[in-house]
Amino acid sequence: MKRIFNFSAGPAILPLQALEKAASELVNFNNSGMSIMEVSHRTPLYENVHNETLQLIREILSVPAEYDILLLQGGASSQFFMVPMNLIKDNMIADYVISGSWSEKAIKEAKILGKKVNIAATSKETNFDRVPSTFNFTKDACYVHITSNETIQGVQYKKFPDTNGVPIIIDASSDIFSYEIDWKNIGLIYAGAQKNAGPAGVTIVIIRKDLYERESDNIPTMLRYSTHAKENSLYNTPPVFSIYMVNLTLKWLKSIGGIPGIKKINEEKAKLIYDVIDQSNGFYKGHAVKENRSTMNVTFTLKNPELESKFIKESEAKNMVGLKGHRSVGGMRASIYNAMPIEGCKLLADFMRDFIKNNA
Ligand code: PMP
Repeated sequence: MKRIFNFSAGPAILPLQALEKAASELVNFNNSGMSIMEVSHRTPLYENVHNETLQLIREILSVPAEYDILLLQGGASSQFFMVPMNLIKDNMIADYVISGSWSEKAIKEAKILGKKVNIAATSKETNFDRVPSTFNFTKDACYVHITSNETIQGVQYKKFPDTNGVPIIIDASSDIFSYEIDWKNIGLIYAGAQKNAGPAGVTIVIIRKDLYERESDNIPTMLRYSTHAKENSLYNTPPVFSIYMVNLTLKWLKSIGGIPGIKKINEEKAKLIYDVIDQSNGFYKGHAVKENRSTMNVTFTLKNPELESKFIKESEAKNMVGLKGHRSVGGMRASIYNAMPIEGCKLLADFMRDFIKNNA
C-alpha cells in the first residue's frame, strides 16, 4: 500500500494508526456484528465512544471543570453565527481581531445578525502577514473574538492578547491540540475537526458554563449551546463516525505524549521548512513575518511565479500532494498538522533545496 504525504489544508492528513484501527473494525465494531455507523446513538456501545472522546479532549487540553465540551455539527462556519447569537446580549458590543480571511468571515456573520461589533485591531493593511499587536478593546465588551491560526495566510498567535478580563473566544480550527491552553480569560474555543482532530463532520466547542446566562428566548433550540450541554451533545443524532475518528485520533495523540509531545515534533517539522525559505536567498519568500509564523500552515511564494506549476508537478512526482497555496495568497502552502510525520517535512525540505539548485 502506498501512503502519500498530504499537505492539504483540510480535510487533511490523519494518523495512519487511527485509519488502520478504523479499517480493522469497520464492519464489526467491538464484536457487535455492526459497524459503529450502524449503532444507535442511544446504546452503551456508542455512548462509550462518545463519552471517552469527551474525556480525551478534557484530558489532553486540561479543560477545567467550569467548562463544558460540546460536539456539534455545521462546521466552524456555523460557530461564526452561533457565537454572536448566543453570547452578544441585546445592544451590547463584541470585539473582533481581524488577522486574516477566517476572522473576516467570522465578523461578517455577526453583522448579518445585526449585532454590534467593533474591529479592535486588523492586520489587513499588511496583507495579513502578521497578527495585530496593538488593540483598541471596548470596555465591557461581551467578548473578544480571535482566530488563533489563520489557515489561509499561515499566521498564528504565539501569545493571546490581554483583554483585561473580557472573555476571549477562539476559532482554533486549524491549530487546536497543538499547544497548551491557558484557560484564564477563555470564554469559548471552537474548532472544526478536519485538521488536527479528525475528519470533517464534527465541531468541537468548549464553553465556560457561566456564558449560558446570556442566551435569549428567541434562539432556535438546535442553535443554543445550553441545549447540547444539557443533553451531553446527544440532543439529536450526533455524527457518530466523525466522533469515533476523533476518538482514535486523540488516542494516537495521547500515545505520542499529548500536547507536550506533539509540540516539540511540530516545532521541528516547521523549522525544517522555514529554514529552507530563510536560507534560499530570496528564491522563496515566506508570507508571514517570522514572529507570527504558523507551525501548522507554512505559506510561501516563489520569486519566479512561473516556476509554481513546475514546483507542484515535481512535488507530486515525489509523493507529495496539496501544496498549492490559496488563491488569495498565491504561491505554496504546506499544511503540516499534527498527523504529518516529520519524514514528510524532511522530504519537502530536501525537495525545496533541490528545486533551487535545478532552477536558480
Ligand atoms: N476557521 C478556520 C481557521 C478554518 O481554517 C476553517 C476551515 N478551513 C473554518 C473556520 C471553517 O470551517 P468549516 O469548514 O468546518 O466550516
